[in-house]
Amino acid sequence: MPTFKAIVITKGEGGTSAALTDFDEQDLMEGDVTFRVEWSTVNYKDGLAVTGKAPVVRRFPMIAGIDGAGTVEASGHPDWKPGDKVILNGWGCGETHLGTYAERARVKGDWLVPLPDGLTARDAMAIGTAGYTAMLAVMALEHKGIKPDAGPVLVTGAAGGVGSIAVALLSGLGFTVIASTGRPQEAGYLEELGANQVIDRAELGGQVRPLAKERWAAAVDCVGSSTLANVLSMTRYGGSVAACGLAAGMDLPGSVAPFILRGVSLLGIDSVMAPSYLRKQAWNRLQAGLDRQKLARITSETNLAGVIEAGRRIVDGQIRGRVVVKIG
Ligand code: NDP
Repeated sequence: MPTFKAIVITKGEGGTSAALTDFDEQDLMEGDVTFRVEWSTVNYKDGLAVTGKAPVVRRFPMIAGIDGAGTVEASGHPDWKPGDKVILNGWGCGETHLGTYAERARVKGDWLVPLPDGLTARDAMAIGTAGYTAMLAVMALEHKGIKPDAGPVLVTGAAGGVGSIAVALLSGLGFTVIASTGRPQEAGYLEELGANQVIDRAELGGQVRPLAKERWAAAVDCVGSSTLANVLSMTRYGGSVAACGLAAGMDLPGSVAPFILRGVSLLGIDSVMAPSYLRKQAWNRLQAGLDRQKLARITSETNLAGVIEAGRRIVDGQIRGRVVVKIG
């Protein structure tokens, strides 16, 4: 029976463990499209999965990897034929459905998005769920009427994957961008991406007041917890905050004061189950609007054998920007 290389997570008495191994093709799960994964990427959630730091994986054995880009090999779905270039983000891949750190993936055709002309599969994975989430956040702010003349936009967790791309996208759209980071050594990197001001994340991590001095018109938050609560308390009257992440925690220890006294809106961003039309819109805007030189600057590369170490590093907050994974 044919096999292919994959990062497989298994569960034993001591917990979960991940290893690069051969996977039996006959054990692929159901789906009407099989595609050759050519590139993948390392997202924060992938780090949680391969390290077992959070119960992201809900089926064992599991092939890790939530993002993939590659070429259709077989299809029973009307939208796809062999040779088509596709992108896959989320939908439970690497969590409940076998994922993309593998030479082959079988999924529902409805989950796939066409690779936009002008993007390579490697570019698509340099963007990955992180970049597509950053775009969803920017689109949510735009939908609330936030325009560059409204005032500065804050990005927290700015040196990470979602944050780096959010900074580049917002700057490209003409916004004044304030980047919050715990890594002052990355100030130059963030300025090159388009940040107009870099602040220390400690400014946002302290005790939360119901309302504080108004500092920004909007924010893209990757951090959650007291950071998000402080960001809300410092958002200008009528502003909006797109909540994407939980790098500091899932709690939200704030008050309703920003909502009821300043009309601030909290916008939830979910990439995993986002509907197809929104994904296509986000990917087309990324193709058209993301500066490729900036994308190249934030991207580093590894291979399947390097994924587990990269996963450890992202969970420890040591990865700058994005990591692409060359498969095969
Ligand atoms: P990264 O690890 O690349 O970036 C997270 C960044 O958050 C770090 O680089 C760091 O930025 C900051 N950070 C980490 N730990 C802390 C802490 N304890 N306190 C304050 N800041 C911290 O991850 P991603 O960019 O890929 O993902 C960011 C978040 O978004 C994650 O929580 C992830 O799960 C979530 N996410 C959500 C999605 C959705 O659909 N809603 C999709 C994709 C990601 P710095 O060093 O600059 O301070």
